[in-house]
Amino acid sequence: MVINGRPSLACNTFPDKMKGKELVLEPLSKFPVVADLITDRSIIDNNLRQVRLYIGERDKNDRGLYELQYTAAKCLKCGLCLEICPNYGKGDNFFGALFANDTFLTHSLSESRKKDLKREYSKHFLAGCSKALSCESVCPTGISTLSSIFSLAHSKSK
Ligand code: SF4
Repeated sequence: MVINGRPSLACNTFPDKMKGKELVLEPLSKFPVVADLITDRSIIDNNLRQVRLYIGERDKNDRGLYELQYTAAKCLKCGLCLEICPNYGKGDNFFGALFANDTFLTHSLSESRKKDLKREYSKHFLAGCSKALSCESVCPTGISTLSSIFSLAHSKSK
């Protein structure tokens, strides 16, 4: 939800640690409201299903890459990155940081599937991302979208 104007996980927000006396709770604004603070975030799963993006194995031999992939694999699909992203509007064709991070985890896929996904990545992420990186400021698991983008760009040039 949006807590005092900031997209946040309710389960990870502690009122006694917040500044000010007032606590303002709002539903996420970029997803349909079901009731009160409850929103329907099924678009996230539907988008990933649409491009058949399932997380693959990680390369343990490349230590630097492995650490980044391990962090990216902690994505909760909470949608906070979409909520804060200036490039995402309700129901857009832009799939957001969570999609870019998952694409980065496709190590075990066949070359043809990787090619497919790169095409989807260009269409659903690269074409819409302005590198505002506001996603990084709200991600509860600290995933660096910029690292995913750089690593993907590097893998493309191989
Ligand atoms: S990348 Fe971060 S903010 Fe976005 S869905 Fe995953 S955990 Fe949530």
